Amino acid sequence: MVDFIPVNEPLLNGNEKKYLNECIDTGWISSEGPFVKQFEEKFAQTVGRKQAIAVSNGSVALDAAVVALDIQPGDEVILPTFTIISCGAAIVRAGAVPVVVDCDRHTWNMDVEQIEAKITPKTKAIMVVHIYGLPVDLTPILELAKKYGLKIIEDAAEMHGQTYKNKPCGSFGDISTFSFYPNKHITTGEGGMIVTDDDNLAQRCRSLRNLCFQPQKRFVHEELGWNLRFTNLQAAVGVAQLERLKEFVAKKRRMGQRYTEQLAHISQLELPLVKTDYAESIYWVYGVVLRDDVPFDATEAMEQLRQQGIGTRPFFWCMHEQPVFLKMGLFSGESYPVAERLARRGFYVPSGLGLTDEQLDRVVQGVKTLF
Ligand SMILES: *Cc1c(COP(=O)(O)O)cnc(C)c1O
Repeated sequence: MVDFIPVNEPLLNGNEKKYLNECIDTGWISSEGPFVKQFEEKFAQTVGRKQAIAVSNGSVALDAAVVALDIQPGDEVILPTFTIISCGAAIVRAGAVPVVVDCDRHTWNMDVEQIEAKITPKTKAIMVVHIYGLPVDLTPILELAKKYGLKIIEDAAEMHGQTYKNKPCGSFGDISTFSFYPNKHITTGEGGMIVTDDDNLAQRCRSLRNLCFQPQKRFVHEELGWNLRFTNLQAAVGVAQLERLKEFVAKKRRMGQRYTEQLAHISQLELPLVKTDYAESIYWVYGVVLRDDVPFDATEAMEQLRQQGIGTRPFFWCMHEQPVFLKMGLFSGESYPVAERLARRGFYVPSGLGLTDEQLDRVVQGVKTLF
């Protein structure tokens, strides 16, 4: 039996060990250590924002963003149905109502044409989520936000190093968020970042991150926060990873290109779009979609690949088909065919930064045997 190829392996062979040793040697391991501030400052610079607030993961970054923007019970927030649960959960936990739109068949991102029809007097924000490698087409969304006075929450968890019309992803939202889970382009094991240009919003996020302790009356609370603090150990890894962002993006693009070249002739597969007129994919993951005439679905394809020692993951399951939301009475009777099809026919293959060319070629051979 040949070695199993995991769906993701991170690359940690830069200064990670050196900086971690500094933490241990100096005893700074909590959120008070110097790497946290350094990582926040360098990250803010990288995405061209005034403020960055490191938090424990990308999901809670969204929770804090929604609360910081004062989204209240009964308010509506528009988001793509094709995304991770974290997006819908952040809205629902704030008592607000998630309102979804379908996605574009080619970019897999939210269909911007469908947004305006979903805007009501209760709409407070649009949560844009960049999916899998290509950013959302932001210009029309920013125009809608301006026209209707809506806030933008930008989930850029998968977009480290990506740009939209040459401006960094993560620089477009009133608040934008990132994740540093090991399958993202930059990892800290677990971790997340909130970025903004608004000092008041940043202040609120810092307070929410730290249980809403008050500087003067520490244990007297006007508001409930969370403990979302990010440790110096995580930040040490983050600083080392950030040093290599450009290299990592280039490597992901090479991997994406290699997959596309080798899979392009397989008529049964739809491959990820290489570029649009506003961005070139950074292949957060390399996703493939089984064409409609393929007599099996993604679940079966993934099982076959597993038997060949190849790890995969299914695509996102739509928000409007989540049992947890249906039980709450949300999305009753709603249907979004493009996203439903992607969820059933799409999966992604190993595409972590640690993947070697030999492994990639073995994955290609495995995918070919499906047909
Ligand atoms: C990974 C991801 C998140 C969640 O980040 P975690 O750090 O795993 O909590 C949120 N949104 C998107 C789009 C993601 O891909």
